[in-house]
Amino acid sequence: MKKGLIIIHTGNGKGKTTAALGVAFRALGHNLKVCMVQFIKGSWKYGELEAAKKFENFTLLPMGKGFVNLGSKEPDPEDIRLAGETLKKGKEALMSGEYAIVIFDEINYALSYNLIKIEDVLTMLKDKPQNVHVILTGRDANKFPELIELSDLVTEMKEIKHPYQQGISAQVGLEF
Ligand code: ATP
Ligand code: MG
Repeated sequence: MKKGLIIIHTGNGKGKTTAALGVAFRALGHNLKVCMVQFIKGSWKYGELEAAKKFENFTLLPMGKGFVNLGSKEPDPEDIRLAGETLKKGKEALMSGEYAIVIFDEINYALSYNLIKIEDVLTMLKDKPQNVHVILTGRDANKFPELIELSDLVTEMKEIKHPYQQGISAQVGLEF
């Protein structure tokens, strides 16, 4: 049996979530089942939400009601509750062994913003079914050396240029 990998997409450049969606697209082509859970409300765009409906093997679990108040220093208790629920849903999908790949979108952000505990994530990853691949996306994964250590594949998206710098805003098909 092949080894289920722990994969991280981090860094400040664009492409962390789209790379995870690219892997999902590939796996779906092999009729494998993929589950993706979302830690930051609104981080999934219209395009991927609509496209996912076209694949019966692709389960997307959004974070639910509420929003993460990015501006405040202390995380909102409601955001902590929602992030905890999201982790629980993702963990259930992972532990069920039903999916070939489970994607935790923006989990690194949820960790660095103290919405969820690193210990809980590390325990989950250590206990996961051997053959299931996991993808963890979001900036600042390098704040958690144990997470990097436990992972098999870590890619840092590095911003060299971004159209935002030219004043070009989000465009259909590329950003949403
Ligand atoms: P994408 O979803 O496009 O793969 P991402 O997952 O790497 O981006 P996030 O940190 O989730 O990046 O950012 C969310 C949004 O911000 C996306 O619409 C993305 O296009 C945009 N974005 C990503 N990187 C940058 C950047 N360096 N400057 C400005 N906007 C960015
Ligand atoms: Mg993203």
